[in-house]
Amino acid sequence: MGKSPAHIGRRLKLLTLIDDAKHALRDGRMDVARAELLTKLSPELQAKALEEAVWLPMFRVREGDQETGTLATLEPLSELRWWVERRTRLDVADLIADDETRALFPEASEAVREIEWGVDAPPLLEVALDRFGQSPAQATIPADVLRLNRDYREVTGKKCKFAQRAFVVFGDRKGEVLLVCCEKKGPTTCNVHWPLKVKADPSAQAAKRPPWEVQEAERKRVQAIWERVRPDVEKVIIAASAKVRTTPKLLQEILDRTTNIAQSAAVIKAIGKLTPETFGRVYVIADAFDDLYSVDGAERALKAVNGFFDVKKAMKAAEAAMASERTVPKTEAKKATGKPTKKTRRVA
Ligand SMILES: [Zn+2]
Repeated sequence: MGKSPAHIGRRLKLLTLIDDAKHALRDGRMDVARAELLTKLSPELQAKALEEAVWLPMFRVREGDQETGTLATLEPLSELRWWVERRTRLDVADLIADDETRALFPEASEAVREIEWGVDAPPLLEVALDRFGQSPAQATIPADVLRLNRDYREVTGKKCKFAQRAFVVFGDRKGEVLLVCCEKKGPTTCNVHWPLKVKADPSAQAAKRPPWEVQEAERKRVQAIWERVRPDVEKVIIAASAKVRTTPKLLQEILDRTTNIAQSAAVIKAIGKLTPETFGRVYVIADAFDDLYSVDGAERALKAVNGFFDVKKAMKAAEAAMASERTVPKTEAKKATGKPTKKTRRVA
């Protein structure tokens, strides 16, 4: 009585829950709000959501807390909402036209709009990424996302020449823009991200292809012809390039290809404008910052610029400071960590 059709429809959808979720709902371990969110997911994803976004805190119950497996110990509803949101595909059209999507995923929307506006940015790949940067298990990816989930590896340290921009359309890092390397096979292989592995099994597939020697001979034949043409192409390029000026835009391009893009932007902001005069310094800083992912890397980076700083001593001091912060009352500690001072990768 007095229930709207939409309300009844939502309740009917609860019938599509997997058994684990139905049982949890029936015996009060999970509420209707969470159950309704789960119905938006495939059965495979429902199981994963229960595991990662609903029950997780059961393993984090504080010492002395007697309640387990009740609503009081569930992950906050917002956590599940966040999780479900990241298990739907990020739509390029929405990134351009829909204000709400743009606000939710500013990084991806900016990158997509750059291309939309004809700024000469290379096309973006679309990739799916799970927690901690892994490619999600195939069973948990919807078909339309799976199609684009080609082989790629995230480029986190030094860039290889095949690195290209991609944005995450699915998974915990949805909306992030990152660099990936897809150069797994073909005439060129990236040996940074796809180091050669000796295959134990000479597969039946290989037999179908022309023998390796035939392919290699053909490649060499075409290459030899190309080498004759190449000097002419080089001459044209050199002549045409006479008008090239060392503009900030060109310098930016060099930086983008050789260093981490987000990082070099921060460096330029820190030391001022990117000009032919400041370029060397920006490059050296950005390159050094690339190494700052570990203590060892930091020591390498410092050495490269003749900077003197006792990292190990600073680590000890920071460790002591963190230990004393842990004893500060909870509300105080929360305030203190509210704003991260250092930009770190979001891994929720
Ligand atoms: Zn690579």
